[in-house]
Amino acid sequence: AKAAGRNTQRFFDPDMQAAVSNRSALEADLRRGLQEKELVLYYQPVVDGKGRLQGAEALVRWRHPRRGMVSPAEFIPLAEQTGLILPLGQWVMEAACAQLVAWSRSSLTRQFFLSVNVSVRQFRQPDFVEQVLGALDATGANPERLKLELTESLLLADVEDIIARMEHLRRYGVGFSLDDFGTGYSSLSYLKRLPLDQLKIDQSFVRDLQTDPNDAAIVRTILALADSLDLGVVAEGVETTGQLEFLQRYGCKAFQGYLFGRPMPPEVLERALRPAL
Ligand code: C2E
Ligand code: CA
Ligand code: CA
Ligand code: CA
Repeated sequence: AKAAGRNTQRFFDPDMQAAVSNRSALEADLRRGLQEKELVLYYQPVVDGKGRLQGAEALVRWRHPRRGMVSPAEFIPLAEQTGLILPLGQWVMEAACAQLVAWSRSSLTRQFFLSVNVSVRQFRQPDFVEQVLGALDATGANPERLKLELTESLLLADVEDIIARMEHLRRYGVGFSLDDFGTGYSSLSYLKRLPLDQLKIDQSFVRDLQTDPNDAAIVRTILALADSLDLGVVAEGVETTGQLEFLQRYGCKAFQGYLFGRPMPPEVLERALRPAL
């Protein structure tokens, strides 16, 4: 009776009540936003040590009619919990592939790649491989220009199955990055078995690189590890030339961060590119 009493009390906790109804209101709103085509993709440049563009990462935004531009940090976790990430992720894949085709037509970009974030739930769908191949096919995008960003939490599932899916897409030329590397729990033996092209050093390690010896050591270790496993590395969240210099000194060759450009609408990225051509 005591436990029930406590439950009852919690159930009527006005703060929690408000949180629950906020969540379901947000869910309904996101569902509507998806239907009304309020989602847009921004693109953040990935550059080499000389600041030359190598590619870009597609990052979703919600252009909300009342709230303005909403960050994915506010709706991706909810989309993952509710399953809305599935239609959302499929839309992102198709929109990114369409942009890739538009850019390759304008010959703006020869060796340009486009990275797309894939949530674990999306990757685990039985028809994930078909969805990606379908998006490539529908748009005519070159699979060799597409990179999929996966996170370490993927490794909680059946690794054989993950490898099989990755291999299947790799046969078409699709590449794979392990995102937010170092923040998850990934075991090095799994890392060696996964058919990856690239690791992305999480921005939480880059931020205090120059002041926190632990972060500096982690970054150096990731760079050495990537080198010995023959993987590329992209450092995320590079905001200062000091960070850039440190990363370069230890062998990093690709960078992403506000120092080079924020996520931007595709037409802004194109304008930024043109003077360089
Ligand atoms: P992420 O994949 O780690 O993306 C990098 C995030 O770091 C982006 O946040 C980007 O705007 C931010 N960032 C880049 N450079 C800097 C910098 O120099 N300093 C700082 N402080 N931040 C920087 P954003 O766009 O808010 O995205 C947040 C997260 O939402 C992404 O983290 C990703 O996990 C998720 N996300 C975004 N788009 C998608 C998507 O299409 N599908 C899925 N499944 N997740 C997405
Ligand atoms: Ca990412
Ligand atoms: Ca990341
Ligand atoms: Ca992140």
